[in-house]
Amino acid sequence: MFDSLSERLGSVFDRLKRRGALTEADVGEALREVRVALLEADVALPVVKSFIAEVRQKAVGTGVLRSVTPGQMVIKIVHDHLVSTLGAEEAPLDLNAPSPIPFLMIGLQGSGKTTTTAKIALRLKQKDRKKVLMASLDVARPAAQEQLKILGEQAEVATLPIVPGQMPVDIAKRAMQAGRLGGYDVVMLDTAGRLSIDEALMAEVAAVRDATRPHETLLVADALTGQDAVATAEAFHKRVGLTGIVLTRVDGDGRGGAALSMRAVTGRPIKLIGTGEKLEALEAFHPERIASRILGMGDVVSLVEKAAETIQQEEAEALARKMEKGQFDLEDLRQQLRQLKKMGGMSGIMGLLPGVGKVKKQLSDANLDEGMLGRQEAIISSMTPRERRNPKIIQASRKRRIATGSGTSVQDVNRLLKQHQQMAGMMKKVSKMGKKGKLPPGLA
Ligand code: GDP
Repeated sequence: MFDSLSERLGSVFDRLKRRGALTEADVGEALREVRVALLEADVALPVVKSFIAEVRQKAVGTGVLRSVTPGQMVIKIVHDHLVSTLGAEEAPLDLNAPSPIPFLMIGLQGSGKTTTTAKIALRLKQKDRKKVLMASLDVARPAAQEQLKILGEQAEVATLPIVPGQMPVDIAKRAMQAGRLGGYDVVMLDTAGRLSIDEALMAEVAAVRDATRPHETLLVADALTGQDAVATAEAFHKRVGLTGIVLTRVDGDGRGGAALSMRAVTGRPIKLIGTGEKLEALEAFHPERIASRILGMGDVVSLVEKAAETIQQEEAEALARKMEKGQFDLEDLRQQLRQLKKMGGMSGIMGLLPGVGKVKKQLSDANLDEGMLGRQEAIISSMTPRERRNPKIIQASRKRRIATGSGTSVQDVNRLLKQHQQMAGMMKKVSKMGKKGKLPPGLA
């Protein structure tokens, strides 16, 4: 069996107990292990190379959270990058077109194309309440058209009557015609597969595409495909143009590397996954699951997330204590602005004060403009530490210096100082009221 990546990285990093930012050497060592893990998960080599390069750039210099090891930190970065490469957003089938909407299903023989055609038809019928017609254009394999007909009966989805001897493009045209006449919403065209990419197949699929102008062109690909995944996806995408990928046999024990390879070379989303032989075994694609599978890891990601939360919580509590004492200075405000930019954190901190409801929302609404946050941070950064601790000493000439230093105006500086004053005042008041239990009901 595969060693899990987290175990392997654990042993690399157990020797290094130090903390701080990840160094180039840490990252280099960890990424060698990540590379092996990706290759073992059957991610294609060129994809592995560019992926590693991207992660390296992201990881060097990243701070390591207190309660996790550098190895775990690297895994988290790798995992997050995997998820975003796989496509963080869901990609539903696009049904936004005049009926009948042509769907073209393409892929190698045995990839699960015919089964997937019927699965999607069933899903469209059940979930989207669409009237679907399926047609097999596979004239190479005698039983293929019959197979789709049987699946259609199982799914209770119509199939185009079989006319022996008709060629694929003609069948496709007949299917579209039948779709129009029969008032169908979607016409699914299941093309012939081959054992490997060949020019005759590509030409045939391209001709069907030209005759029907499909709205979705879905590549059906086996999740267990290894290094070939790139060549297959690239060839189909170049020649026919894909709108999405459906990955089958995700229920098998492959590590899902094909998902990353295909997504990376085509730039097209993985729309659905097949998770079994039954017609119901079709699911939306969740990048986190595949990412975890590719990396073969357990709970590292949630561990790191938990650690990040804890640290934010600790910082927030420290700040809340300062605010209660009325010690909220400009240095604290700057930290807050940074946090706000990162995560909209004002509400998190305010939430720790006893009893803050509506004020919190107003505050964050007023502060959340990204550009403004940046300018405000620049203003505070142009102050001396003494000025930050004691804003009262900031008079006219200091204001001019700060404005010039931060590329803003004296009015901007004034506005920031006033805002800080209001915030500090309000925080003190709110925390006092909360402590004495005097907060009006609306704010509690
Ligand atoms: P085609 O040649 O590409 O049309 O492939 P078929 O649709 O005929 O599928 C080939 C085999 O794979 C059949 O036995 C299917 O039941 C099976 N199959 C298809 N999709 C999946 C899947 O997601 N999981 C599993 N376990 N088997 C699948």
